[in-house]
Amino acid sequence: PIIPDYLAEVLGQVEPDASGKPAADNPQLAAADPERLGAAFATVDGQLHGAGDIDVPFTIQSISKPFAYALALADRGFGPVLAKVGVEPSGEAFNEISLEDGTGRPLNPMINAGAITVHSLVAEAGSGPAERVRRVLDGLSAFAGRQLDMDEKVCASEMEHAHRNLAIGHMLRSHDILTEDVGAVVDGYTRQCSVLVTTRDLAMMAATLANRGVNPLSGEQVVPEGVVRQVLSVMFSCGMYDAAGDWTTQVGIPAKSGVAGGLIGALPGRIGIATFSPRLDGHGNSVRGVSLFERFSSDMGLHVMDVP
Ligand code: GLN
Repeated sequence: PIIPDYLAEVLGQVEPDASGKPAADNPQLAAADPERLGAAFATVDGQLHGAGDIDVPFTIQSISKPFAYALALADRGFGPVLAKVGVEPSGEAFNEISLEDGTGRPLNPMINAGAITVHSLVAEAGSGPAERVRRVLDGLSAFAGRQLDMDEKVCASEMEHAHRNLAIGHMLRSHDILTEDVGAVVDGYTRQCSVLVTTRDLAMMAATLANRGVNPLSGEQVVPEGVVRQVLSVMFSCGMYDAAGDWTTQVGIPAKSGVAGGLIGALPGRIGIATFSPRLDGHGNSVRGVSLFERFSSDMGLHVMDVP
């Protein structure tokens, strides 16, 4: 088994690296087992290869952002979404309190300001908080190809410590980017971040992006192909926050990280990749996850600018 052997070998190489720390945003996240380590590849024809802790559940956190963005684009169309959320790399931290001069729009959907706004734009116009949360949960499940659930404990803990996201929400409300109850939108966004996934799920979700929006196992067209192009483009330029430039040059795969330690990459027409390791670097990206992707990219020539 060439691929599992390769994965196990590379995991063994990054395993001793104990640098970084699990997210301390709230007590539930801080309590994560820092030693967990897993990696999985899912091909666009539905084969999955993994090694390590690929069936351990953890919260999706910011990796939900590109998928919720896809759902909002599919539900509302490009015009209404782009009117409220830009597509410019911010070069700032994920939770930076900043909006575009003049318009008040969040710069992109991968930082919290943009993702909170995107959450308000899922499901058809006029939907309430419960319908938006249901749409996100059903949509993320369709990307994964199985029914997903939420971690109520992580969600409750995060809501108790959500002052910064609430502050971002109120700022968005003051610019009429959000036009409804800020608490309900931030609560819904926090629920979105609390969806439980495994490394295996994330690889399949990434493979759905790599496969023009069609889940390789279920065959379901989850979102239109044009939406996937938009989402992958934004992941490529903005998915790793203020480390996006380093990532794009060194790894060269559209990607997204989350504070629980997950990391995904999607290579159009080829594979979805996911890794899990909770210790984070100063940007909030998984330390060993970044090392794994650097290895995968160079060993297998996955950089999108490389001639295959
Ligand atoms: N739920 C986290 C937040 O909103 C997600 C951040 C992340 O994964 N980078 O702060």
